[in-house]
Amino acid sequence: MISICEVGPRDGLQNERDVLPPETRAELVNRLATTGLPRIEVVSFVRDEAVPQMAGAEEVAAAIERRDGVEYAGLVLNEKGLERFNETALDRMNVTLGATDGFNQRNANASLAEANERASAIVASRPEGTTVTISVAFGCPFEGRVDPDVVSGLVNHFRELGAEEIVLADTIGVATPGQVKSLIADTGADGFHGHNTRNTGYANAYTALEAGATLLDASIGGLGGCPFAPKATGNIATEDLVYMLEGDGVETGVDLGALVAISEWLATVLGRPLEGQLYRAGIFPSA
Ligand code: ZN
Repeated sequence: MISICEVGPRDGLQNERDVLPPETRAELVNRLATTGLPRIEVVSFVRDEAVPQMAGAEEVAAAIERRDGVEYAGLVLNEKGLERFNETALDRMNVTLGATDGFNQRNANASLAEANERASAIVASRPEGTTVTISVAFGCPFEGRVDPDVVSGLVNHFRELGAEEIVLADTIGVATPGQVKSLIADTGADGFHGHNTRNTGYANAYTALEAGATLLDASIGGLGGCPFAPKATGNIATEDLVYMLEGDGVETGVDLGALVAISEWLATVLGRPLEGQLYRAGIFPSA
């Protein structure tokens, strides 16, 4: 069985134009928790001014109706984020840094070396229950293709620090399956976070599993985009991913019908159709 981490409430909503209030975001999390998903990334602890969509992270975390078997995660970029995370009852911390100077500069006002130092201190303070996600591991909007050796070096470094889990992210959706396969296999990374910006997201996720990953990030309805690419579509859709995997006999433990119902609900909340295709096309066979 493989694990899916649902990132819609965080990566998805953070890239939506509309800002949803904390109650609605908590409701989304609570609905998702009923589907059998083993992990949900609930919020990001960033400054409200920087990401207004994530304002009230503490309120969202406090409004979660905890369910057994579900791990609730929060994203942390820096020391301040760590302090805020530690005040909540969330289970897992996702510490993120980019693989390039350019991305860290725009995203965290730091060079790669500074971002690495920051992330390392945070991970060292709490290695257990911590995931490190390396953003733009395949391609960067500012620096183009990313050297796989740089990514390997980061993976090894965070492993040595004791990080429980490492995820490689194709943040802007530029990777192709062969690239994902070799980078996951070469680094031994645990997970893959893919966007479907150029329609390679599902093939990439599939190939990540074949290369040894056991964790895939996905977003309900394919929610989200990329702040640096206004026309970019979002993460791979959780329900489309589950349909593909279950169809191929890969167990996910997730109730597909329940996911579809959440995408239908979310489309009404946001007042627009979502990127995901399964919730519109329907599950096959239908019942
Ligand atoms: Zn993402």
